[in-house]
Amino acid sequence: MSKILILLLFILSPAFLEAQQLDRKQLIADLKYLSSDELAGRAPLSPGSKKAQSYITERFSSLELSSQFSDYTQYFSFGEEEKVENAANIVAFIPGEESEKIIVITAHYDHLGVKEGKIYNGTDDNASGTAALLALATYFSHKAPKHSMVFAALDAEERGLQGAKALVKDFPFSLDQVLLNINMDMISRNDHNEIYAAGTRHYPELKVVLENASEGERVSLKFGHDLPNTGHDDWTNASDHAAFHAKGIPFVYFGVEDHADYHKDTDTFEKVNQDFYFNTVKLIIRCAEELDANLPL
Ligand SMILES: [Zn+2]
Repeated sequence: MSKILILLLFILSPAFLEAQQLDRKQLIADLKYLSSDELAGRAPLSPGSKKAQSYITERFSSLELSSQFSDYTQYFSFGEEEKVENAANIVAFIPGEESEKIIVITAHYDHLGVKEGKIYNGTDDNASGTAALLALATYFSHKAPKHSMVFAALDAEERGLQGAKALVKDFPFSLDQVLLNINMDMISRNDHNEIYAAGTRHYPELKVVLENASEGERVSLKFGHDLPNTGHDDWTNASDHAAFHAKGIPFVYFGVEDHADYHKDTDTFEKVNQDFYFNTVKLIIRCAEELDANLPL
């Protein structure tokens, strides 16, 4: 067989298409680094948080993404009695091919830091969403979206969604341009091979798009956790998407059901189900792609 034919067959093979969509090695390496002891649980303003910021910034920069913020960094303060200054969201931008309307993709990178000498690594919560955010930014940097996209790694979620509130408050465009927030928080492990997309009870038009996107995927996409008094926790205000929802901006929140290591020092890299995580990030990429294809221009 000629070399050109072999190359052509490889390019058309499922393995190549899969590699193009999502680099598994990179994804797992990102998750491992972001939740390593070196970053010491990424509490706002801590040296570990600064390391996470540099890591994310360098990746946005190597993808040659633009930003409305200098060095991709939106500084903000929060807290009344104990004021915290210079917390930092890391924000990149990809202009849309066909629309100035915006899809905002978010994941918080902060976690609880160190308590009583123990590092709270926060691998699932939420190094997993942060590494996925980098994967999505990588994907759409190679395959330009129709809508513009903002990629925001948010700080101080664990302190009351502070990074998301700051981003929405000082958003670099008119909020009227924002069509959707896709938020990821805890997506790397589940014993039932299930990931939830919460938000469709508030914004039912999104459901059919997500159903179509999830067809044939290895992880099953569930709906719910977005209404009170159903016997399931209502996650409507549980993570950064709440700041968008408060402004009437539709959201889809991807997350797993709580597990035994939630907000414990045992939420570590070793507990991750790597196949589940990889398949979930692939599914979320599919969903983002399908939403971008179907939302009004
Ligand atoms: Zn979280």
